[in-house]
Amino acid sequence: MTLILVTLGILTAGLLFGLVYNYLLMYTDVFKNIKIRSTQLDKPLSRTEFFKRLPLIGFNILSLYVLSFFGLWMGQGLFDMQWAGIGIFVLHFLVILVVDDLMFYIIHRSMHENKFLHQKIHSLHHQASQPFPLDFIYAHPIEWLSGYAGALVGVILIFIFSPVNVWAFWTWALFRSLHELDIHSGVRSIVSKYIPLMAGAEHHDFHHQRSKGNYASTLIFWDLILGTMLKKKA
Ligand SMILES: [Zn+2]
Ligand SMILES: [Zn+2]
Repeated sequence: MTLILVTLGILTAGLLFGLVYNYLLMYTDVFKNIKIRSTQLDKPLSRTEFFKRLPLIGFNILSLYVLSFFGLWMGQGLFDMQWAGIGIFVLHFLVILVVDDLMFYIIHRSMHENKFLHQKIHSLHHQASQPFPLDFIYAHPIEWLSGYAGALVGVILIFIFSPVNVWAFWTWALFRSLHELDIHSGVRSIVSKYIPLMAGAEHHDFHHQRSKGNYASTLIFWDLILGTMLKKKA
């Protein structure tokens, strides 16, 4: 039960942080000097647009809680709840991160290159052309839930060799939520510029503006090696 409660607690903490961040961007100018978009929609209009997206965001949050609850209930045996040392922690964290990120890239790119998938599923997420942080949850429910398939594959891959260190999983879950909030914020990333090959908010923000290229979420090298990196604006 600890696994489920802590994981849902981490998801909730990420959402609460997102709520505060969203509020600050919608109603204040505290991030005015580090905003990426110079042509952002005026606030009343962008707020109205965002509120229209809230019902789907709410539905997706609920789906994630239900799916996480039952998924973790069934998958409790995959995890080692003990601290297994820094080496195992880092290794398991990186495996989940890289596998999840590669799957995100593949699914995301497919949703742009396949017309049917784009029109029926992914175009919904792109209705937020100038997203707020919580817009990372504004996606077709199929896309939203498929976004967590990569973590499942990563966990199963690790389990082939040994139980998954739960601290690595929890750290990844927190990192994933905060990173998604960051790349949809329209505010320049502070942390990512110090981490080599990590995509900041500018990378995904540019994707939302162009709706083509820059398909990676966290690791910029998927776009670099697979030739989908967008050229920076002049
Ligand atoms: Zn997005
Ligand atoms: Zn996209």
